[in-house]
Amino acid sequence: MSKLVPPHGSKVLLPLLLEGKERDAEIAKAQKLPKVPMTSRETSDLIMMGIGAFTPLRGFMGYEDWKGSCNSYQLPSQGNLFWPIPITLSAEPWVADPLKAGDEVALWDTETDALMGTMKVTEKYVIDKELECKQVFRTLDAKHPGVQKVMEQAPVNLAGPVKVVSESYYPEMFKGIYQRPVEARAQFEERGWTTVAALQLRNPMHNSHAYLAWIAIEVCDGVYIHQLVGKLKEGDIPAEVRVRAIDALVNKYFRKERVMQGGYPMEMRYAGPREALLHAVFRQNFGCSHLIVGRDHAGVGDYYGPFDAQTIFHEIPSDALALKPLPLDWTFYCYECGTMASMKTCPHSSKAVIDDEGRYKGGARLLLSGTLLRKLMSEGKMVPPEFSKPEVVAILKEYYDSVEQKVEIKLHGHATGAAKV
Ligand SMILES: [Zn+2]
Repeated sequence: MSKLVPPHGSKVLLPLLLEGKERDAEIAKAQKLPKVPMTSRETSDLIMMGIGAFTPLRGFMGYEDWKGSCNSYQLPSQGNLFWPIPITLSAEPWVADPLKAGDEVALWDTETDALMGTMKVTEKYVIDKELECKQVFRTLDAKHPGVQKVMEQAPVNLAGPVKVVSESYYPEMFKGIYQRPVEARAQFEERGWTTVAALQLRNPMHNSHAYLAWIAIEVCDGVYIHQLVGKLKEGDIPAEVRVRAIDALVNKYFRKERVMQGGYPMEMRYAGPREALLHAVFRQNFGCSHLIVGRDHAGVGDYYGPFDAQTIFHEIPSDALALKPLPLDWTFYCYECGTMASMKTCPHSSKAVIDDEGRYKGGARLLLSGTLLRKLMSEGKMVPPEFSKPEVVAILKEYYDSVEQKVEIKLHGHATGAAKV
């Protein structure tokens, strides 16, 4: 019997991906079914259901579950099981109108024009998009990328159980680290891990992230560096480059038997605190007992307070999840402390000053901005080793050199330099 945390709301993982003859038959049948095009977010959610990362969901949500997850984090269809963000499928009226309950449809990814699965339609409904945005994103600002997607999605929602026939709509992104929950769990068990902390990552791993990983290893059996390999925002560093940078870091500065890398396909919603809860749900399905929640988890811009994603875990019922958050404060290098530190440990409030050449000029806390980091790298200047290990900087520099100079690369992290996790 596994000593890992159980999947969410279920004794076993419930992957909806078909294999072998069953899959072949479903693909053949799907050719004759009415097509429902999916946005990249919907496709990524379907794949999450396919691999069992959204256990125990059986398909796209109906109205009651949509409303329940928006308003009270609950799915009425599953005995009010905890679920923090609606997982829905939208359709244009000319797609939805001819359909009736009981009809089967083929689910196609719009961008790649690939068949991803099928669904038995059980319900058609219209949602209050503003309600969803207010509850999930805490804003109606059309500039918020998550709000924008919801407001732009087609007006009718279709619900029903799905069968998934593909998990590789962007195959090139999946190289190397893409894993299904069942694979991650098997590897954790092989390593003899019982407690596993997930480190959510969508940016290169600098020293602040490494520090979080070291702390997690001190309190858990191992750390699972879990990267987004789904669709990224323009200017994001590709997964392949991030993976190499992490490898370089892990090979030199970690006990390898305590670290595992994995990739998951879910598109970011940038819902900050609510998304942290969804990250918790699917990390539990991957077998993680803890989720590191640092500053600005899954946020974007200034829509959320830096630690909203930590406090939200106090607002949900204590038995909502088997996974527990590992809330960690804002971390940085402090020249006065002479080590990595956090707001919780370091008494020195002054900022360290780094000049245009990357040289330390005094002060305590190293708050290196993404813009300065990019400038230093593009001009071949030194990046302070206190911010990022030279092995990581070398790989990033190689990548930036390969990107056309004219393209403005927007490095993540605020002007404060604290990398978002
Ligand atoms: Zn200090």
